[in-house]
Amino acid sequence: MSVILDPIKMWEELHKIPELAMQEVKTSAYVAKTLQELGIETQTGIGGTTGVLGVIKGAEPGPVVMLRADMDALPFTIDGKECAIHACGHDSHTAMLLAAASRLKDKVKKGTLKLLFQPAEESIAGALEMIKAGVVDDVDYALGAHIRPIQDVAAGKICPAVNHTASNTLQVVVQGRSAHAARPHLGVNAIDVACAIVQGTQNMWFNPTNIWSMKCTQFHADQGATNSIPEKAVITFDCRAQTNPIMKDFRDRFAKLVQGTAEAYGATATISELGFCPAAEYDEDFKQMVAESIVRTQGEDALAPACGGGGEDFHYYKMHKPTMKAAYFGLGVGATPGLHAATMHFDPQYLPMGVDVMVDVVERLIG
Ligand SMILES: [Zn+2]
Ligand SMILES: [Zn+2]
Repeated sequence: MSVILDPIKMWEELHKIPELAMQEVKTSAYVAKTLQELGIETQTGIGGTTGVLGVIKGAEPGPVVMLRADMDALPFTIDGKECAIHACGHDSHTAMLLAAASRLKDKVKKGTLKLLFQPAEESIAGALEMIKAGVVDDVDYALGAHIRPIQDVAAGKICPAVNHTASNTLQVVVQGRSAHAARPHLGVNAIDVACAIVQGTQNMWFNPTNIWSMKCTQFHADQGATNSIPEKAVITFDCRAQTNPIMKDFRDRFAKLVQGTAEAYGATATISELGFCPAAEYDEDFKQMVAESIVRTQGEDALAPACGGGGEDFHYYKMHKPTMKAAYFGLGVGATPGLHAATMHFDPQYLPMGVDVMVDVVERLIG
């Protein structure tokens, strides 16, 4: 007898055990136990992490389809106490994927269905570990999903493509030369150089029809005497771009700006990358298929326009295997005041809608 699991009940249980990136021990044990009880082949400790993979094979040959959920919560300090909170809703993604697994267990006729429960999305480390473990090497279709904040997608509606931007954190260390403050011409003031670099970035222009931004988010300069010329400054930039080629253009021009400015002042500057996450790259036909599944399962009114915002390490999968077709839908659940807020809450009654879409897509591909 097949068991159909309720995503709302599982979300309630997972919501009580929030765990930080790469520490999802209880969550992954919950996932593995649930998959095993369903009779699904289960691999744990993927790549030495808390990642879990369920595998359902069809009798006939066919494509490999991967459904992916993330499992980690976010760190907060509440009343002076450090804690983890599921403020990005990854507990709901895990619950939806487990519910989809219960419905798809006996439905895969051809090819293979991989159910990937990925750790550490928030730290942008989990997808890379899954890739290193070879999880996506044989995947032909990868489908991800995320609940959306109310500002993005209305409750009860689903957008077929979440257009995540590329994000990049770049740090510049400016090295000038110290001198007596009464003789500034004998030194190179690192603060002057850093300010010129920040101002230069504000005059870098790209096609305004694209989404992009570059902001200086940290500025640290020499802590020495107030009557000496500071020789070192460290500035950090958060960069966003709609596509990966725009981000590359961004970085190339930023490097020229930094080097040219430093040279003009007689300073040196080094750039290091503190973090990177690629932009979404979807295949039109697979995206269209997801849109059709939304309409097929929920009706025309449920289809929301494409939405965007934020980053997702899911897009490393496509970057690793460009021939793989990727899609990623956003589920409107009335999440408020917004994702990553400690008080983020939403209405779980909408979770079965997300499960319906996942199940329909898989059944159409390999059912
Ligand atoms: Zn998040
Ligand atoms: Zn998230």
